[in-house]
Amino acid sequence: MKIGFIGLGIMGKPMAKNLIKAGHQLVVFDIVKEAVKDAVAAGAEAASSPKEAASSCEHIITMLPNSPHVKTVVLGENGVLEGAKKGAVLIDMSSIAPGVSREIACECEKAGIKMLDAPVSGGEPKAIDGTLSIMAGGDRALFESVKDDILLKMGASAVYCGGIGAGNTTKLANQIIVACNIAALAEALTLAKKAGVDPELVFQAIKGGLAGSTVMNAKAPMMISGDFKPGFRIDLHIKDLANALDTGHAAASPLPLTSTVMEMFQSLRADGDGSCDHSALAKYYAKISGEEIGKKTR
Ligand code: NAD
Repeated sequence: MKIGFIGLGIMGKPMAKNLIKAGHQLVVFDIVKEAVKDAVAAGAEAASSPKEAASSCEHIITMLPNSPHVKTVVLGENGVLEGAKKGAVLIDMSSIAPGVSREIACECEKAGIKMLDAPVSGGEPKAIDGTLSIMAGGDRALFESVKDDILLKMGASAVYCGGIGAGNTTKLANQIIVACNIAALAEALTLAKKAGVDPELVFQAIKGGLAGSTVMNAKAPMMISGDFKPGFRIDLHIKDLANALDTGHAAASPLPLTSTVMEMFQSLRADGDGSCDHSALAKYYAKISGEEIGKKTR
């Protein structure tokens, strides 16, 4: 299949490469020229705009930071809707506000374009391995039509979650659980350190028990070593929690834990750590407890 792919960042680039490996022909666009060059070296064709990327493809994938970027790329000047043919399918894999997915889908429908929202979980390592978890919203038959040949070439699982926006609502649930888990881990490892137990030993002792998790396995070593190279940036997690809080308010669903962790992230961003991995919540705890990151237990 010929697929337009727009947004070749940390996630989009390896996802696009996996589609090429699966035998698809890719037409790519990103505002960062280096990212495009890299995809072209892997076998993609470069487009000069989202409109051009969409014009020759039956399927178009977007993997962009947030709602405004997806709106610009799809609805804006030289955007996907200006180029896409009637009957084309837009799969937005960015994590954006569910309400904005619905707005964009509505505009797509007017132009005769079908849309799925299909955000992912798993981060860069799983984007590279092609083992992402994909959660999708939209028409079920449309989802089934792209599941095997497109989605499962980038992911190990692709689950249909409901109508348009349901993929992003599921992703918000995922991001709340991840944020609260990381905060609990940072709090617990800081307590261990302050109370005189080596956090590395705590991690080794509990990782196989009920508290063990994918989050713990990925983030405890980063917290213990003080290596906060992203991974998943605090700025992006703030974006997701802001979307979660807005969605929660609109649905009358209180999110007390989410709002607490949001303020921790905001404090880190104010300290200049917005580009750090979200495991840098350990820095927030180090600050409020007077500890030093990476320092050995007394
Ligand atoms: P990123 O910032 O690395 O990549 C985004 C890409 O979009 C960049 O290459 C940027 O140049 C491009 N872009 C921005 N505006 C554009 C425009 N107008 N036209 C064309 N290209 C444009 O972000 P990422 O980490 O790849 O994340 C992408 C999405 O996936 C986000 O919604 C994020 O929340 C989500 N996500 C990220 C991770 C992760 O671990 N990084 C995991 C799961 C989901």
